Amino acid sequence: ESATLSQIGLAGLAVMGQNLALNIAEKGFPISVYNRTTSKVDETLDRAHREGQLPLSGHYTPKDFVLSIKKPRSIIILVKAGAPVDQTIAALSAYMEPGDTIIDGGNEWYENTERRMVDASASGLLYLGMGVSGGEDGARNGPSLMPGGSHRAYLNIHNILEKVAAQVDDGPCVTYIGEGGSGNFVKMVHNGIEYGDMQLISEAYDVLKNVGGLGNEELAEIFGEWNRGELESFLIEITSDIFKVEDEETGNGHLVDKILDKTGMKGTGKWTVQQAAELSIAAPTIAASLDCRYMSGLKEEREAAAEIFKEEGLKEDINNVGAVDKKRLIDDVRQALYASKICSYAQGMNLLRAKSMEKVWGLNLGELARIWKGGCIIRAVFLDRIKQAYQRNPGLANLLVDPEFAKEMVQRQAAWRRVVGLAIQKGISVPGMSASLQYFDTYRRGRLPANLVQAQRDYFGAHTYERIDRPGSYHTEWSKLA
Ligand code: NAP
Repeated sequence: ESATLSQIGLAGLAVMGQNLALNIAEKGFPISVYNRTTSKVDETLDRAHREGQLPLSGHYTPKDFVLSIKKPRSIIILVKAGAPVDQTIAALSAYMEPGDTIIDGGNEWYENTERRMVDASASGLLYLGMGVSGGEDGARNGPSLMPGGSHRAYLNIHNILEKVAAQVDDGPCVTYIGEGGSGNFVKMVHNGIEYGDMQLISEAYDVLKNVGGLGNEELAEIFGEWNRGELESFLIEITSDIFKVEDEETGNGHLVDKILDKTGMKGTGKWTVQQAAELSIAAPTIAASLDCRYMSGLKEEREAAAEIFKEEGLKEDINNVGAVDKKRLIDDVRQALYASKICSYAQGMNLLRAKSMEKVWGLNLGELARIWKGGCIIRAVFLDRIKQAYQRNPGLANLLVDPEFAKEMVQRQAAWRRVVGLAIQKGISVPGMSASLQYFDTYRRGRLPANLVQAQRDYFGAHTYERIDRPGSYHTEWSKLA
């Protein structure tokens, strides 16, 4: 009988689940699938048939589904995060046995995973919280996988995950992340970094368009060119494509110009910024990206404000900055984008390290950069440089002071300052690029004006201060001496 049992199961057949199930089957692992709404089971069976008679069996009840999987069972769940995960676990675990594993592949809050892990272990079940990145295409053809939780559960399925994940020059884009909810946490920070990348690219577009006067054809070409250099990445590549697409609705102009400038979001960026604040880690580029999404939502207020400031003559004042050399601007923006990106990744990595220390997860930052090299949305050639930086020095305090990155920052800083300065003069907001530049300028300064803040705190609140020239903590009666 065991010959007919599947090697693994997957419940939740929306975009991600359906595609991941087909990917697993295509790699030669017989899989059982289930979805609450059973029409999706038929849909998936139909695709498995059409996409090459893949070894996939459909099941219409939790019991049939669970019993169709070989023991110890491994079941991936890909449903909406939150209560649907609890409901799905309740439905399936009734038929699961000690030693079986639940793998939640959704964008789940890591503490929910840790709570479920405890519940699962009470009935002898193992648990993994596995970040899955790469959207629909990644799920179908090779995602980046970030499994955390039970190491034993990971060992049960690592051969499957290694085949299913995206493949890059130095291996499959999967690794055991660490204990507890670390897999979900790493995926969350990955998404925060993704917010930063997208914001920085949109600012590059804004400056090129509104300062350099570049049209969509030129932008497609520039981003295409950038994708053949140090910025080579999935997001730069799709950006080039986006500028090529004509508007089919009206048959007039490019689609990108017809899209409402209001960004959607699902919460992982907000969680990243909240966690950074909790852990006292500065993540200004990621925070600026989140703030921009919020401000993009104020479309009507922004249009009203634009009217007010047009009448107040703001336009005339700021347009008066002289001519810009287009060729140089393009080259400057490329460098500004690259330098800004390094700062954003430095923030994300430092957040991961701080959490890893708090939770004793033992995260390997270089290895995380490696598994992001393929499959996921932030995949980029540049991640190999980050991997190497942490290989050179696993205790690196900040990516910015890795000797290679430090050199690159110095080489790019003049161009970077020109772009941010020009944008500021022109009144074109570049919150991500300037947050990155401020992060760099704050981090690289041996002395900050924080001495004055300490003096003020001591003046009004007797909070005391330390001195630069002798040990101990001091308080001064400032008002009496002034
Ligand atoms: P989704 O739209 O988030 O969720 C739809 C799935 O959840 C359907 O299978 C649905 O079943 C099921 N579901 C909802 N409520 C349920 C409940 N109470 N009980 C049982 N099943 C329930 O699907 P998705 O876009 O494929 O994403 C799945 C997970 O992956 C999410 O956590 C998402 O954040 C994450 N993710 C998505 C992407 C992406 O590009 N879409 C990328 C990475 C990660 P019914 O058909 O019965 O309604």
